[in-house]
Amino acid sequence: MPTSSNVAPNDLSAFWMPFTANRQFKKAPRMFVAAKDMHYTTSDGRQVLDGTAGLWCVNAGHARPKIVEAIANQAAELDYAPAFQMGHPKAFELANRLVDLAPEGLDHVLFTNSGSESVETALKVALAYQKVIGQGSRTRLIGRERGYHGVNFGGISVGGIVTNRKMFGTLLTGVDHLPHTHNLAKNAFSRGEPTHGVDLADELERIVTLHDASTIAAVIVEPVAGSTGVLIPPPGYLQRLRDITKKHGILLIFDEVITGYGRLGTPFGADYFGVVPDIMVTAKGLTNGVIPMGAVMVSKEIHDAFMQGPEHVIEFFHGYTYSGNPIASAAGLATLETYKDEGLLTRGAELAKVWEDALHSLKGLPHVIDIRNIGLVGAIELQPIDGQPTKRAFAAFLKAFEQGLLIRTTGDIIALSPPLIISESQIGEIVSTLSGILKTLE
Ligand code: PLP
Repeated sequence: MPTSSNVAPNDLSAFWMPFTANRQFKKAPRMFVAAKDMHYTTSDGRQVLDGTAGLWCVNAGHARPKIVEAIANQAAELDYAPAFQMGHPKAFELANRLVDLAPEGLDHVLFTNSGSESVETALKVALAYQKVIGQGSRTRLIGRERGYHGVNFGGISVGGIVTNRKMFGTLLTGVDHLPHTHNLAKNAFSRGEPTHGVDLADELERIVTLHDASTIAAVIVEPVAGSTGVLIPPPGYLQRLRDITKKHGILLIFDEVITGYGRLGTPFGADYFGVVPDIMVTAKGLTNGVIPMGAVMVSKEIHDAFMQGPEHVIEFFHGYTYSGNPIASAAGLATLETYKDEGLLTRGAELAKVWEDALHSLKGLPHVIDIRNIGLVGAIELQPIDGQPTKRAFAAFLKAFEQGLLIRTTGDIIALSPPLIISESQIGEIVSTLSGILKTLE
């Protein structure tokens, strides 16, 4: 029976949709009205297999009972508590669980409401930390080309996506960028970490020589760049960044908004690569995408540097009305419990080989110029149509949706990141649907 929630509204004009081709969408809307486990239901009653965990966030699959129940109970018990100068137990409990889960040494947590806010928080902590320890000349931030760190001003400044930056003036000044590590000429069709490019990390030494270490506060990178098309670092690359930053007193920030919470088959990307940053930025999978929340984990050394001066004085002037919100905290706790109960934070490792073989079986199909994979993430890069970049991959996205599969495209790259509960036969389904589509693309 139609209800207001399962029919498409007939006026779509008011909502200016994010990162969406609004005019195209509103001519032929694609609406989800329900979701359960691995599937969405569309407004016309079709089932769509979720090949992207929503937007890289629904790692435990949809409408998981523990999480649903925790949210409902928390809303009834304590809906909101002021985040400043007051507390509630679940935020502290969640912070402790996260510290237990995080790599050794990341002992303190700041809560936010999104990946973008987590990035801003991390950058501000880094700058303030340098000031607090008497290194106030360290104001420069180093990001990376093709990095995505959300859409706020700090994030787009250190980020390396021209379309996200070019409209907004000078952004943060004193920012420089490492080169990205993506190299199709040398690394196309790599399985897992690509062989070539570790020396690109040495570009950081060049940047340090150019600006002097005394001006640089922090380097921020995604362990695997997700949003610009799954760019996987060569072995040793992140360790080299760690060595160089340590040598020069520069903080290393990992943006693990996508790589966190099991995506690579380990709790965090830091675990996968065996490299511990000073600050780790997370969001998305923290609450299974259900309630907006982010968490920034910082080292004890950073935290302790702030804990000085008169005790009644606020140590760090930063925070959000909803930092550690009770319902988000309850969702986070239930999500971590679900991950633990079902072994989801390491399930990506168990499935990685099946996933890799399945994706690479698409090699040789029309337009496919690269396939890459790590953990339970993959990308299929297509040759763009001459003079019409993005059009070919977007056509694949529309066809996939019609055929009951949700994929994500960025540029001419198809990115895949299914919920970690996916079955082997559903992996097969993703690949056979894509195979059919690739054969028919213009
Ligand atoms: N950082 C990374 C690495 C991301 O992938 C994203 C989102 O995809 C963000 C930050 C921004 O997160 P949000 O959209 O929650 O602000």
